[in-house]
Amino acid sequence: MVSAPLTPEQRKRMAEAQVYIQGAGSIGLWLSIQAALHARAANRPLNIVIFERRPSHTREHALWVNPTWFKDKMHPDTHIPGLTDSTKSIQIRANALEHLLLEKAQALGVTVIRSQKISDWCDSLLKINQDDFWQRSKYETAIAEGKKAWLKEIFRLTPNADRFIGTDGSHSLMRELFFQAEPIHRRIIRRVVQLSLEIDLSEHPKVRLDSAYPTAGLFDFKAIAHVDAREGQTSRLTARFFVDETTYARLQKPDGTPIASATNPLISDHLLDHPLLSQKLRYSLSNWIQQVERKLTKELGHPYSVNLSKAKLNTISLEHTQAPTFWQRISRRGRPFDIALEGDAQEFTPFYSSLNSSMGTACDLAKALSVNDPQKRKPLFDRYVRNTRRHRTWLACWLWLKNIILTFLTWVQSLTGWVSLTLRQWSFQHASNMHAKTDLLPSPCVRLTATKAHEASLQGAFIQQFRFRTASRIGLGSNSSCPDNSVYNEESRELRRARHAKP
Ligand SMILES: Cc1cc2nc3c(=O)[nH]c(=O)nc-3n(C[C@H](O)[C@H](O)[C@H](O)COP(=O)(O)OP(=O)(O)OC[C@H]3O[C@@H](n4cnc5c(N)ncnc54)[C@H](O)[C@@H]3O)c2cc1C
Repeated sequence: MVSAPLTPEQRKRMAEAQVYIQGAGSIGLWLSIQAALHARAANRPLNIVIFERRPSHTREHALWVNPTWFKDKMHPDTHIPGLTDSTKSIQIRANALEHLLLEKAQALGVTVIRSQKISDWCDSLLKINQDDFWQRSKYETAIAEGKKAWLKEIFRLTPNADRFIGTDGSHSLMRELFFQAEPIHRRIIRRVVQLSLEIDLSEHPKVRLDSAYPTAGLFDFKAIAHVDAREGQTSRLTARFFVDETTYARLQKPDGTPIASATNPLISDHLLDHPLLSQKLRYSLSNWIQQVERKLTKELGHPYSVNLSKAKLNTISLEHTQAPTFWQRISRRGRPFDIALEGDAQEFTPFYSSLNSSMGTACDLAKALSVNDPQKRKPLFDRYVRNTRRHRTWLACWLWLKNIILTFLTWVQSLTGWVSLTLRQWSFQHASNMHAKTDLLPSPCVRLTATKAHEASLQGAFIQQFRFRTASRIGLGSNSSCPDNSVYNEESRELRRARHAKP
């Protein structure tokens, strides 16, 4: 069953289709563009139909697209202004990217049918908990029936198609139906606490927030941040802290459901004092907020205090999902059919490089899709599988290396902080001694040094904390020797107030 009636024109397009793609997200559209370009270059007619369940592109999150991941692999005739002509990373909203790709795909003759999906009832499959032993057989039966029904429907709708591609995202139905024979790799790799701040720029119509926001500092947890910048409007700054299990567990109910989810976040005027936040988390959050305030103050040219009553906090569990196989050839009445996965449906790495990485591997898949002869197509699919596996290994190694480099940089940063603190304290002492010797009024230089030294002593509190924590982690000290955060918080709040009180 299709979820909505098809128009006669859509039926005609479906009947002519040779390639069926499920999901018109960025990868489904990109794949169709590449396949259409390869077919056009080889002078082969290729009818591609994409089914998309959403009525329009509505997702607004910001994406970093780095053309170096796919520039060498894409078809040389791919000209998408604002995307392929860029030599460095660009930031673009998800819906803007999908719009660009949709225009190009339609210009190449690809048919996109919206608000449409096959077998509505299949969704209920995904709700069955396959890890629950008692539901396992129910799940397997549902999969077998779902697969039969899906194939029956697709053969009826697209009698000429022999290539079916699932680009239906990280909760892919096609992955669930066709690549279930082997266990699907699903691993929780990160527990995340996400803090989202609202920055009102209505009084600064010309200001658009810089895209780089502080993520390195003496936080207890590694962090990444991204900006949803809108010129002269309310922008959103989001930081994600990769927390430990204990910190994460405090924000979960005993049955494991989140207390603060993306749809129901924690909002409070006294967010940082919330009893569910561990001391470590509170420390990282307040440190990040201070860094943001410092940066905003510089950018806007006047003191800026973040309005915490509009901040939202929630937890996320990032799961690495990987289909162990992503291409198979099935046969029906002696005719071969290729079924493959691409994009988040094939592999979703929650490190935000999934899109770039899939845009590269999709170029190989497109070459295979553009060939109508199943015999000639087979070696191209084999090459696609080989290249993608190699790419996955390379990516895993790179992420591992990146992790090590980041850890090393955090150490270097703490060391540099310590050296700069010692120098500042020394220069302050030196200046005070000079002042005592000459018996003059404190010069502006001395006053400035004094302020700096005070700030440095706060930095010292960070460093001291960091050193104590590290020492206790590696067994050189005890937690009781760790300075109390509240002292640091009070002190830094005082400093912030004093700084903001200045005209
Ligand atoms: C907040 C955030 C930030 C990110 N930032 C980056 C970044 O900076 N760089 C990067 O490389 N990656 C980033 N990513 C990852 C990137 O967004 C994804 O890897 C990419 O969008 C995957 O595209 P896709 O087409 O495979 O899946 P999706 O974009 O999820 O598209 C799947 C499509 O299939 C449709 N669909 C689903 N089921 C069906 C069905 N049964 N029938 C018909 N249609 C169906 C859906 O409606 C959807 O349109 C980010 C992700 C998030 C959430």
